[in-house]
Amino acid sequence: MASGRKTDAMITIDGSEGEGGGQILRTSLALSLVTGQPFRMERIRAKRQKPGLLRQHLTAVEAAKTVGCAEVAGADMNSQTLEFRPELVTPGNYRFAVGTAGSATLVLQTVLPSLLTASATSTLTLEGGTHNPLAPPFDFLARSFMPLIHRMGPCVELELRTPGFFPAGGGRFHARIEPVKQLSRLVLSERGAIHGRRARVWLSKLSPDVAERELAVVRDELKWRSEECGMELVPHAKGPGNALVLEIEAENVTEVFTGFGERGRPAEEVAELAVAAAKVWLEANVPVDEHLADQLLIPMVLAGGGSFRTTKPSLHTTTNADVIQRFLPVPIRVEQESELAWRVRVGAD
Ligand code: AMP
Repeated sequence: MASGRKTDAMITIDGSEGEGGGQILRTSLALSLVTGQPFRMERIRAKRQKPGLLRQHLTAVEAAKTVGCAEVAGADMNSQTLEFRPELVTPGNYRFAVGTAGSATLVLQTVLPSLLTASATSTLTLEGGTHNPLAPPFDFLARSFMPLIHRMGPCVELELRTPGFFPAGGGRFHARIEPVKQLSRLVLSERGAIHGRRARVWLSKLSPDVAERELAVVRDELKWRSEECGMELVPHAKGPGNALVLEIEAENVTEVFTGFGERGRPAEEVAELAVAAAKVWLEANVPVDEHLADQLLIPMVLAGGGSFRTTKPSLHTTTNADVIQRFLPVPIRVEQESELAWRVRVGAD
């Protein structure tokens, strides 16, 4: 878009507020592209151990700059201040490479909202990490998030070419985004009956014993059957890597829970983390989990409204709601419904 409502008044965002991490930056870039509003951000990622712009964030800024033909100041390594002034969102064929194992899925998250309602189809190649701790793994985007976007109108096809793990990176995936003029509202109140589940271990340059121990925890704790559990050996990967992905397909939503292997963390612990996250969601009997919750806010705001029931909102969710409202005057309300369930309402009823 980056048209109609464009004004020169610069929005100032304090990057240290709330969650104080990279999401504040990515949401600001995404919504600056969508609305055409320029912004200045100070104290970028102030609450992180290494504050300021790192490789992945710089790639996100670069991607937003390219897609939005933007003028940018402060896009330097470790910079804690950035000014971003978009001109015109231009759909097209782009390649964005993080250059390290930094998350490539988070780069997609930055430019996706503006391309969902752009004037033509875009094809993106994204390179970097595809299965990173503290970021959406490729499987989450492909199986959980994008099918919901599809329900709102746009068609986004994703294709994983090579998984990339921390610290070697080297992952690559493609995204083809067919936009619509206007996103449709989405309401996710019930998850419906569960009719599919799959545990998959991504494994690169590590002993299959790691995968077997992780899957043993899944069978033991969640009582999943052997035929629902498998491993995916990654050929030609740049370095070692391991992620356990639990996918639960329900009538109205598919949720994905991930445990990330890292040096020094036993396989059992990796599996326990994913299993514990799945159990929280299963017990709450809501459709939307913590991560999907913060990531659904932008598309719902672009649709002009919607609502979902979810587990206890994270600081990512409440911070994202605050940042979004700096760019778009769409109310976002969070209400606790019961001990384990919350309702998030976007837009006026
Ligand atoms: P930040 O920590 O500010 O860089 O934001 C991280 C983003 O990654 C948020 O949108 C999180 O919800 C998302 N995220 C982190 N871990 C996962 C996960 N395991 N599955 C899906 N999304 C995730």
